[in-house]
Amino acid sequence: MAWGAEWVAVRPDAVRVWRDPEVRRRLSWYMRVMLREAPPKFVMARSYPAGLDHGEDPWSLEAGELWRIHEKASSEFRRMWIRVREGSIEYRDLEAEPGESLLAVKAVLAHRLASPCILCERRCMVERRSGRIGACRLDYNVYVHSAFLHLGEEAPLVPSGTIFYGGCNFSCVFCQNHDISQDNPRGGLKVDPVRLASIQDALARKGARNINHVGGDPTPSLHIIMESLLHVESHIPQLWNSNFYMSREAMELLVDVIDIWLPDFKYGNDKCAFRLSGVRNYVEVVRRNLKTAAMYGDVIIRHLVMPNHLECCTKPVLRMIREDLPVDKVLVNIMDQYTPMHRVARRPHLWPDIARRPTREEVREAREYATSLGILWEPVS
Ligand code: SF4
Repeated sequence: MAWGAEWVAVRPDAVRVWRDPEVRRRLSWYMRVMLREAPPKFVMARSYPAGLDHGEDPWSLEAGELWRIHEKASSEFRRMWIRVREGSIEYRDLEAEPGESLLAVKAVLAHRLASPCILCERRCMVERRSGRIGACRLDYNVYVHSAFLHLGEEAPLVPSGTIFYGGCNFSCVFCQNHDISQDNPRGGLKVDPVRLASIQDALARKGARNINHVGGDPTPSLHIIMESLLHVESHIPQLWNSNFYMSREAMELLVDVIDIWLPDFKYGNDKCAFRLSGVRNYVEVVRRNLKTAAMYGDVIIRHLVMPNHLECCTKPVLRMIREDLPVDKVLVNIMDQYTPMHRVARRPHLWPDIARRPTREEVREAREYATSLGILWEPVS
């Protein structure tokens, strides 16, 4: 691979990392899409016929009928995608009209999931279309707070065309993006699907290796993101950078359009998840979504080492990765950059356990434990 861009001087590891055969193997789908050797999934889904009656408008159908159509088309699509990934067939453009494609059905369903909202496992059921605000602090609109080539992500992702959406379904007391996730989530640029597609195309023209949907969390914005893919012209990998608390239904929609997943796996138990992020049933939801993601796309899991949480969180998280996922296929970023911020910084006496940075010894122990479980972390940490 030849890269001539100026960012190589800033992140030479973003080139060097691809010399590692394990990285190439574990991120093989993402790499092929990035190199334009295979189309991104959303392009395939956009030309894949949903099986609608000729001229039928998916926007006019009931949700139950749409899910029935989606289930059939999606399962066939996934079989085809697996064969394309394995190299046993070449993808050919199936030439469905975008408005009658699997992607169009997904876009309509995403809007239906958003009001009353069950996009994430909080399942607020609020009528966002009527201007009601969910636990993510969002109405029906989607707000982009910034979009730029991010040079600070994992080496295989840099430069990453990152879009920061306002709002988050978590309330992490240590959030480093609390300005857009919790304090002022509706302060960004309000975007419709066409505008969001043009932002993605602009990032691709600037040299992004991927479109990185993040926040806050991107899940509450899924309805506009999904519809935007009907309009994106660039053939660029789609990356889902999330706390992975999506509902089962939202995950069903995402699976056929995301090429590479970047999930956070923060907590090893529900008690810590509730105390520090205010969510219930965390472990079951994230494990379920992770298993699905690993079946359909490449995965780099992020785990943030928190001080004093090695035994209750870090080690159980690493053990669950080992138990649930094909560890010879995923990469794990064991992150050492936790810093007390937001509410913890203001009132450290309320969360004394996480009121400091992790020690070098804690990070070393976390990484050694991962190695002992056969988890590969070095190329992305
Ligand atoms: S995305 Fe927001 S409104 Fe929807 S269920 Fe989750 S927290 Fe509630």
